[in-house]
Amino acid sequence: MITGKLFILSAPSGTGKTTLLRKVMADVPGLAFSVSHTTRSPRSGEVDGVDYYFVSRGQFETMREQGAFLEWAEVHGNFYGTSGPAVFAQVSSGIDVVLDIDVQGAAILRASAKIPATISAASIFIAPPSLQELERRLRGRGTDNEETILLRLRNAGREMQEALAYDYLVVNDTLEQAIDTVRAIVIAERSRGHRLPTGEAIKIVSEP
Ligand code: ADP
Ligand code: 5GP
Repeated sequence: MITGKLFILSAPSGTGKTTLLRKVMADVPGLAFSVSHTTRSPRSGEVDGVDYYFVSRGQFETMREQGAFLEWAEVHGNFYGTSGPAVFAQVSSGIDVVLDIDVQGAAILRASAKIPATISAASIFIAPPSLQELERRLRGRGTDNEETILLRLRNAGREMQEALAYDYLVVNDTLEQAIDTVRAIVIAERSRGHRLPTGEAIKIVSEP
């Protein structure tokens, strides 16, 4: 059985990472989304257990104390964390797992020895074409109040400074082009691991 790999994606809030990821995951077989735990309230249309596990601060702190998180961070005033056992169960069954985490979480995973050497990871930073366009998208999404939008915009500049620490940088200007690029990265990374675009192992056939 081949081991799956981790795809770590980060972007300033409002860049379009969720939109982009949904399209790529619908298109590329063998990718699973790591459902994080968060203390943020659900947005309209978000489903518990699909988009996030929505938990109270108390529940989050208990899980954190129990060491349930591979990484966790406070982002824009809420806690977010990735479940280690859930991720490792999928990767060890050969499935590639997508982690949608912020720059702090990505830095923790880069610096810590929490990911075994047998599991490879590729990180992708998704950038907006400009801060003005980022503001337009945050406002256009219509899910956040003014205070939240301003906080997310303030944090975007700091987050952008982390872009060069990632293996890949993709600008989400035209959505279709960004989708194609992320899809190409996943397929290229699979080829590096001697796997087909579908994620299965390549069978090498030799001439008789
Ligand atoms: P994120 O997950 O990065 O916070 P979303 O996926 O929620 O961002 O996207 C924020 C808003 O921007 C949404 O209204 C989405 O439809 C829009 N959007 C995403 N990508 C693009 C794009 N390439 N061009 C224009 N609007 C976009
Ligand atoms: P949102 O509230 O817009 O869904 O997400 C806000 C930020 O939290 C995004 O940058 C997203 O990538 C990040 N995030 C989501 N889940 C996790 C997680 O498990 N860990 C970390 N560190 N960040 C996360």
